[in-house]
Amino acid sequence: MSVFSHSRIESYETCPKKYEFAYLIKPPKGPDGIEAFMGSRAHDALEWLYGEVKVCRVPDEEDLVGRFRQVWDAEWKDDVRIVRPDRTADDYRAIGEKALRDYYRRYHPFDQAVTVGLELRVTLPLDEDHEIIGYIDRLDRVSDGVWEIHDYKTAATLMTQDKADANRQLALYELAIRQMYADVREVTLVWHYLALDCEVRSSRTPEQLADLRAQVLESVKHIEAQHSFPARTSNLCDWCEYRPLCPAWKHLYQTEALPEGTRAEESGVVLVDEYLRISDEMAALKARQDELKDAIATRAAADGVDRLFGTGGSLKVFRYTSIGLPDAKDPRRSELEAELREMGLWERFAVLASYPLSRAIGDGALAPGELERLEPFVTRCEGVKLYPARNR
Ligand code: SF4
Repeated sequence: MSVFSHSRIESYETCPKKYEFAYLIKPPKGPDGIEAFMGSRAHDALEWLYGEVKVCRVPDEEDLVGRFRQVWDAEWKDDVRIVRPDRTADDYRAIGEKALRDYYRRYHPFDQAVTVGLELRVTLPLDEDHEIIGYIDRLDRVSDGVWEIHDYKTAATLMTQDKADANRQLALYELAIRQMYADVREVTLVWHYLALDCEVRSSRTPEQLADLRAQVLESVKHIEAQHSFPARTSNLCDWCEYRPLCPAWKHLYQTEALPEGTRAEESGVVLVDEYLRISDEMAALKARQDELKDAIATRAAADGVDRLFGTGGSLKVFRYTSIGLPDAKDPRRSELEAELREMGLWERFAVLASYPLSRAIGDGALAPGELERLEPFVTRCEGVKLYPARNR
């Protein structure tokens, strides 16, 4: 049985290399980022709060904040990473405390529902071979047949309603609890944005849930079929615990560890610096070449000639009109295609879209049977592309 989770699938979608580190290679993890650390401590404090409420003890606001401080101090490690240079650990601690105070005042005395589970482990079989597992921050039963799945977020950016309505994680948990408990008629998905003192709610239709289940099974099978896991760099790399091991960043860490003043002499650094310098020179030459082209065309037109001579050769000036047609993103493209079909010209001018097809083959986006049938037509050759990125 293959066991997946929402975060496992999301990890693959965000960056296949991160997925490979987290779920396949499993090297020792780097230290937590402060945002994740603060989020975990807020979760700890709220889990404790509702645990107390379950046994008919309602802590006061100071108890809740005291619990947060206690778990913060107990779990704190000096290597917790703070990416933003304008923030300190105390700033995040203050944000966490304020968020919990706001939460406390909004929901006290916490009698909106009966809490059925805290950090509740749920499982959802997708088929005989695949299963989803997850942990629900808080599962509430509001009344007969009416349930709520609660999720705590400490992010500073509020999820839009569209995103909530398309969110996969809590919808998967809904599918799971519908299987786990008999009396589940109506389920509301609730995200608590603690730092923003607000909540976002959503719900799903049975059809949406059935579609989701099928899509997730497809995603899981797609991930399982992969053999290579490329690094997909983004601004999330700053928060990635595998960054020092990642092929996209490892060389930076190696060169930063070199003795002061020797970095520019490291062989990889020398190659990159020369490549970028030549790229700049070529760009400048290309710009000058374009200027000369315009000047030559203007001079030839003024003299009424179509060839200008230098001492080392000549340049023929060829004038042409290029024909443009609506591209794939242009809404008029489908009208053009319809017109060609009606004129009986479609077969003559429609050509195989080789690039999308070769990408689908390369990305493993075709079904195994389809790939097998196309394989005799496929050739593969190795190549290298370089994508420069300048230091900010
Ligand atoms: S550092 Fe960036 S590219 Fe590398 S594994 Fe992490 S998220 Fe992916």
